[in-house]
Amino acid sequence: MTRTTEQAKMDAGGQSSHNAGLGFATRSIHHGYDPACFSNAVQTPVFLNSTYGFESVAANEAAAALGGRLYAREYNPTTEILETRLANLEGAQAGLVVASGMAAFSALTLSLLSQGDELVVHKTLYANTLAMVEQAFPRFGIKVVAVDLADPSGMDEAITDRTRLVFFETPVNPLSRILDIGSIAERAHARGVKVAVDSTFASPALQRPLEHGADIVLHSLTKYINGHGDALGGAILGDTETLHTLHETGLRYITGAALSPMSAFLILRGLKTLTLRMERHSATALAVAQALQAHPAVAWVSYPFLDSHPDQAIARRQMSQGSGMMAFGLHAGFEGARLMMDGLGLITRAVSLGDADSLIYHPASLTRARKRLRKDAHLADGVGEDLMRLSVGLEDANDLIADLRQALDVL
Ligand code: PLP
Repeated sequence: MTRTTEQAKMDAGGQSSHNAGLGFATRSIHHGYDPACFSNAVQTPVFLNSTYGFESVAANEAAAALGGRLYAREYNPTTEILETRLANLEGAQAGLVVASGMAAFSALTLSLLSQGDELVVHKTLYANTLAMVEQAFPRFGIKVVAVDLADPSGMDEAITDRTRLVFFETPVNPLSRILDIGSIAERAHARGVKVAVDSTFASPALQRPLEHGADIVLHSLTKYINGHGDALGGAILGDTETLHTLHETGLRYITGAALSPMSAFLILRGLKTLTLRMERHSATALAVAQALQAHPAVAWVSYPFLDSHPDQAIARRQMSQGSGMMAFGLHAGFEGARLMMDGLGLITRAVSLGDADSLIYHPASLTRARKRLRKDAHLADGVGEDLMRLSVGLEDANDLIADLRQALDVL
């Protein structure tokens, strides 16, 4: 079946056209897919073809005119279902999925920014996004202005007539600080600048930045949206015009970083349990954060829904729950963090986040190790040598708390 036939069937009454008014969890399972359009398969088929064959030159031309649906880098039925579903869940007009979260950031920025343009970013970013804005953009003549967006008034000076985009994460990796999407978007829009938010730490089950005034949302699908630690992926969601540009330039010839259809299938499968998983991640993380806070070896805990969190009011306004991510530090600092982590029996020492397995990582240790390879490796602004990032998984809360306690008790 050609894509045109599938689309015609979906448009003529497939399930996706009957989804208006359905709840988030229901849409995360059904939106954009009708078994009747795919040989009645209830789960999404995986199209592993690299190219498409046509019955005539005229049919080939017609497919090209539809937006180049000729080749798997630019079109795949499995990945298209994921794009449609994610756009729906974020409340966006359109979506693009790519090979990783970093591919999403590069497709976005390298499509929208040119030499001489300026990008305003929050001062603390995911380590590789930071590396890209610090190391790569200056080589391409793109100026990056890092500001503390916790005070959105700082943008007034940072934005110039060359600023094309404001970009930030919330919650912020790895600090779990929260930035106020509405206030930042209001100030940026007053100056005619678009706002893109990396919402990876929250997922659309807990936070939908477009509802708060952002223009574009980014995700590392590798994290909560897939949720099982077995696939890499990235997504960009926003208005039709911008997404068309990102598809036609960013994916097609700037990065070429297409998502594997097999990964798209796994991510669609993960998405079906996103609502349930985020509820459990959030409830367990709150219990873990409270237990950590009560332990005498712990100096500080940053979890958005803790009463002690400085941004708790913003978090409760723009997120429905706190998610599974937290940062904390010990009185014993850098060495204490290493000792404590080596004492863990259940929680896995690993980078990444959002999996069923709880994962813990110590940025300062890994940055020291990386410095041997790259002299310019450094911790992001605000990340102390003592900071540990914990991604609370789906295990029993009591088991996680017991594991942390026994590792802390020996300090
Ligand atoms: N954005 C955030 C907030 C992240 O934490 C990460 C990865 O850890 C990325 C983007 C990059 O995603 P990926 O690892 O899928 O390239």
